[in-house]
Amino acid sequence: MEGVIWRWIYCGSKKMKCVICGGGEFNYDNDIACRCIKCNILYNLKTKELDYSDGGGQDIPTIEKSKQRVQNAFKRFEIITPYKHTHNVFVDIGCGSGEMLEASKQFFDYHIGYDKNKVLIKHTQQKGLNTFNKYFESVDIENELGGVMLSINHVLEHTANPIDLLEDILDNLNKNDVIYIEVPLYTGYSFTTKKYNWSLWYDEHLALYSMETLEFIANKLDLKVLDKGYRNFITDNDNRALLLKNITKNFLSTLKGILSKKSYQLTLDNVLKDYGFIVLKK
Ligand SMILES: [Zn+2]
Repeated sequence: MEGVIWRWIYCGSKKMKCVICGGGEFNYDNDIACRCIKCNILYNLKTKELDYSDGGGQDIPTIEKSKQRVQNAFKRFEIITPYKHTHNVFVDIGCGSGEMLEASKQFFDYHIGYDKNKVLIKHTQQKGLNTFNKYFESVDIENELGGVMLSINHVLEHTANPIDLLEDILDNLNKNDVIYIEVPLYTGYSFTTKKYNWSLWYDEHLALYSMETLEFIANKLDLKVLDKGYRNFITDNDNRALLLKNITKNFLSTLKGILSKKSYQLTLDNVLKDYGFIVLKK
């Protein structure tokens, strides 16, 4: 495939460093995957970082799909906005087709989005959104606008150097700015039951994460954890079927998930735990 930049990690026969924690000890699964013992990230050994600049990855979504994404975006804002104080600017890194930015208008005076995908940037600009086909820089935000809340959803798992990317972002943020990170987890119901057949285990994803990995990142970057937890976003029909299946299979863990659910969560979020988020303050 064109645009391949770098095969980022070897495991098993070759010694490599984990890009998150710098550790070099892994559990190794037959050339398919290896899990870092220190920070609990699961690397996909069958792929390498792809280039999304001319499309690839995401296409322009259907109107129906876009509506679902806006609803999903509002669920994220239920998590993020309790920490909004003087923050007037919302930034989305990897803004894709722009649904987080659309939803953000209800809570923020200003929004700004960044994506590598030129096709989607054109699409979001045509929708009237303030987006750029480049890396985030603080100079894009005028100082007097107020604090920044920034989200980076489903980006780190596509990125060869997540720590470098986050450090670059942090260099462009001020103290008290807030960062929301969301990633797919290999510790949730879907990967645990389907393993490498899960649709989220594929060549665009260089790794799947765990809550421990997200906490490790927060610690390493010296950020304060405001909140963390689980999310799911699948259609209602899938939800009911999956929930039923999980209840019969794992009654106790389902019950535990339901009882420890936070007010903004759907029951499924805390039972299936297929996606994890962490809210951080600089
Ligand atoms: Zn590691």
